Amino acid sequence: MTNPESLLREIGVPVTAQRLAVLRAVSTCPHATAEAIAEEVRGDIGTISRQAVYDALGMLVDKGLIRRIQPAGSPALYEDRVADNHHHLICRGCGKTVDVDCVVGARPCLHAAEDSGFHIDEAEVIFWGTCPECLTKS
Ligand SMILES: [Zn+2]
Ligand SMILES: [Zn+2]
Ligand SMILES: [Zn+2]
Repeated sequence: MTNPESLLREIGVPVTAQRLAVLRAVSTCPHATAEAIAEEVRGDIGTISRQAVYDALGMLVDKGLIRRIQPAGSPALYEDRVADNHHHLICRGCGKTVDVDCVVGARPCLHAAEDSGFHIDEAEVIFWGTCPECLTKS
């Protein structure tokens, strides 16, 4: 990832140690939950409140620096791979999440058959299945 400090400056957000640490954590652990990111940040800069982590994540998502994935029945996951319209494979067994490239690459990559009058800007695709490790176990 590009220097997190200049990324924050580019979007006109005041650079704080907490925001930098959250950005670094998302970059180090892609597809991590807010809880896991909070853990990582604590290991990095010491104490940070859960609320501060959530606030920073929400702001970074709004500004487009990171992406939030919201799989059904699971907490939101965060990643810093935002430049492309990639999709995800998620294991029903262990929750392992893997990036897969979008064939089309641009969003929306799927179009609703019916013309609902909506302006569609995204089609979120998640492939659910069983990962190789879980397949061997079963
Ligand atoms: Zn699995
Ligand atoms: Zn991803
Ligand atoms: Zn696609």
